[in-house]
Amino acid sequence: MTIAKSLLSLQDTDQTLALRRREYREIEAELSSEGGLPELRENCEKVKMRELEAKVETARLESDLAMLKNQVAELESRLYGGAITNVRELTAIETEHSAARRNLAQVEEAIAPAEVAAEHTRQTFEELTKELSEREKLWETRQMELRREKARRGTAFNQMLEVRNAEASQIPEADLARYTRLFRSNRGIAVVRVDRGVCQGCAVRLPVGELTRLRAADGPIPCSCGRALITEQ
Ligand SMILES: [Zn+2]
Repeated sequence: MTIAKSLLSLQDTDQTLALRRREYREIEAELSSEGGLPELRENCEKVKMRELEAKVETARLESDLAMLKNQVAELESRLYGGAITNVRELTAIETEHSAARRNLAQVEEAIAPAEVAAEHTRQTFEELTKELSEREKLWETRQMELRREKARRGTAFNQMLEVRNAEASQIPEADLARYTRLFRSNRGIAVVRVDRGVCQGCAVRLPVGELTRLRAADGPIPCSCGRALITEQ
């Protein structure tokens, strides 16, 4: 095999390896994302806390309500019981009574929305818990698939890499070094073909002198574009 053909074949292998490496990393990334479960769990915890807070708030309002009802009833029995005859004392109780009534009305107004909010949060938590358990089950299967796939691809990649290294060992060191440098700097393209005098890498027609030089060379030569080595083979 000529050096040019060896390099083209090596390039094919290297491009495939790069693709496989990307695919392997995608699997790794999906595995480490755990199918979005950590975010869902965190969200579930947050909603659970909100549900708890809403329950505490409702209970607080209900206890306030009971307390205020007692207070109003007590003040009313004093107001209308007839035992108090002192005007100043009566006025004071009246003021206290209307303040307690206002507070009671406020609490009564706040209870319904608080209960609705608590119920809404409870439902959200229930739905999220259900979704979490479904997705955990799905992830179990997916995770097993991914682990198998990762192992399979890892083995295939290593086998291909061995073949690649064997291929590369047949290529003269200087050519290989030039190829490797270009392959890295030129995003996976180091050797390109010249078709009817045109470099397929930069689409520039080669000067006749360059073509002659190419034909006389025993391997690929650098194109004037500087991005690739060219060959007619
Ligand atoms: Zn070129």
